[in-house]
Amino acid sequence: MDDCLFCSIVAGDVPAEVVHVTERTVAFRDINPQAPTHVLVVPREHHRDAAALAAADPQASAELVSTAAAVAAAEGHGEAYRMVFNTGAGAGQTVFHAHLHVVAGRDLGWPPG
Ligand code: 5GP
Ligand code: ZN
Repeated sequence: MDDCLFCSIVAGDVPAEVVHVTERTVAFRDINPQAPTHVLVVPREHHRDAAALAAADPQASAELVSTAAAVAAAEGHGEAYRMVFNTGAGAGQTVFHAHLHVVAGRDLGWPPG
């Protein structure tokens, strides 16, 4: 999709520190990390949010989660990590291409705030 930052990262037109790729997903480090590990896992195809992705492509949706687990494990945090989908501007979503935040490596309090 034109004018989508994460489509541009998937296409390689905008640089990012890619840490994991699968058939349907790309995982790269967040530019403004909120923890020692902060990786974004995105579907290669454009969908505006996690629910739209799940409705359109359940397999890609599942692959997002399994990729997040693989990334956390590879970074030594397979036992404790957080997965977050901010959905809607009111919940802090700023990029409207579905993405799963993988956050780990610090104290992860609950509720998240
Ligand atoms: P959201 O707020 O939509 O849930 O998450 C968007 C995330 O994308 C933010 O955590 C933000 O730091 C990250 N981000 C914004 N622009 C870029 C960029 O150009 N490169 C990377 N790697 N991350 C970005
Ligand atoms: Zn996109």
